[in-house]
Amino acid sequence: MTKTELKEKWNAVLELLYAGMERIKVDNFFRPLTPVKLSEKQETIYLKTPGSNRSVYQTIINNNLAPLSDACEKIFGKKYKFEIVDKEPDPEDDEKETEFNPYYTFENFVQGPNNQLASAACLAIADKGYVKEYNPLFLYSGPGLGKTHLMHAVGQYITKKFPKKRVKYVSAEAFTNELVNAIQEKTTDKFRNQYRKVDVLLFDDVQFISGRNATQEELFNTFNDLYNARKQIIFTADKPPQELVGIPERLTSRFGQRLSVDIQPPDYETRVAILKNLATLSDIELTPEVNEMLEVIAQNVTTNIRDLEGAFTRVTATSHLLGLPLDKELPKTVLTDIFSNAKTKEITPDAIKKAVAKYFSLKVSDLESEKRSKNIAFPRQVAIYLIREHTNYSLPQMGRLFGGRDHTTIRHSYEKMAEEIKTDRELQETVDTIYAQVAE
Ligand code: ADP
Ligand code: MG
Repeated sequence: MTKTELKEKWNAVLELLYAGMERIKVDNFFRPLTPVKLSEKQETIYLKTPGSNRSVYQTIINNNLAPLSDACEKIFGKKYKFEIVDKEPDPEDDEKETEFNPYYTFENFVQGPNNQLASAACLAIADKGYVKEYNPLFLYSGPGLGKTHLMHAVGQYITKKFPKKRVKYVSAEAFTNELVNAIQEKTTDKFRNQYRKVDVLLFDDVQFISGRNATQEELFNTFNDLYNARKQIIFTADKPPQELVGIPERLTSRFGQRLSVDIQPPDYETRVAILKNLATLSDIELTPEVNEMLEVIAQNVTTNIRDLEGAFTRVTATSHLLGLPLDKELPKTVLTDIFSNAKTKEITPDAIKKAVAKYFSLKVSDLESEKRSKNIAFPRQVAIYLIREHTNYSLPQMGRLFGGRDHTTIRHSYEKMAEEIKTDRELQETVDTIYAQVAE
């Protein structure tokens, strides 16, 4: 389909949307997008954003999928997926073996202790095109931790650096479907050749071939051919090779015979780094308020990076659509499902005072007293800090909680603590430990 045809059809889709949706929504959500490419192979229509707010528009699309898909089916005669891009796709991409997600690059892959080995191995392979010691490379992890991202990164890097090399990415599911079709259409030779002529095979989610004998046989033969011809192979799976069930040992032992590396869930620092990267990619300036917001998300979304991205997009899209500021309160209102799973125990000033007193082996009355010796003044500041952070008490109300202190004194104590916590890791940990006692 030519670009002009694509544009005309997209305009027809917009017209249909007007019929079933508020005008202002269509104008604001869909009108700004330009269709740049339709891929039959990926069954995807690529839409370009006006800015570089890819994630915001992707969320809008995802939230309006039903009307969009229906309109699209009426106009194109078939349902397509929609993907938002912020660059025009390279026209040469069509001739390549595989279409990669342009966002899944090494530059966009944030390294942390959780994925260091995996990304180092992938970089080494990408750089050389083939590394005997890492062939095959077997990457495994739970969902949403970057396996597919890394594979695409390797694929795109090699395609650029070694334009003559044929790189093939395939998910185990697609491989299985293609094989089934080839058997039905009696084109297995063609199918085979397609895979045996590649220089790099990126085989995603190998656990999917569990219990599928024909696929296993085909993959085993493909593997042996490529391996003997010194071609690079990378597998991913949800488990290490020896734990895969429903796949014979003669396969798993070969797949895992060289380098197997896992990816772990990211730690807090890596989660923050990933969120900052996402913000930058969405043209969001990292002001102190935005950083606080990202920290709140990172504290609460700990499962995997897909969830982290989902939370980020929901929060930024809400801000964008409703014109709300990006600050630390917004995630609490938007991500209610995540926050309601968190402990809902009410945090009271009394509970905080008790926990602080206990931690420092003092009495609550010491905290409320006039005493200014350092061993009491410091715990008092910790208590003030925690109450200000975790309850809705005003400064004057807090003054009354501490023996009738002036609200400026309270504010001063709070600000001093807040400042120190930023640079003093040990202090931060102390405060977190005490808070954990309260929230428990
Ligand atoms: P998996 O294949 O392990 O299930 P994906 O590769 O699909 O996970 O990753 C899920 C999402 O998280 C993707 O959007 C990906 O770009 C993102 N992601 C994963 N790891 C990282 C990382 N280290 N840095 C930045 N984004 C990441
Ligand atoms: Mg994957």
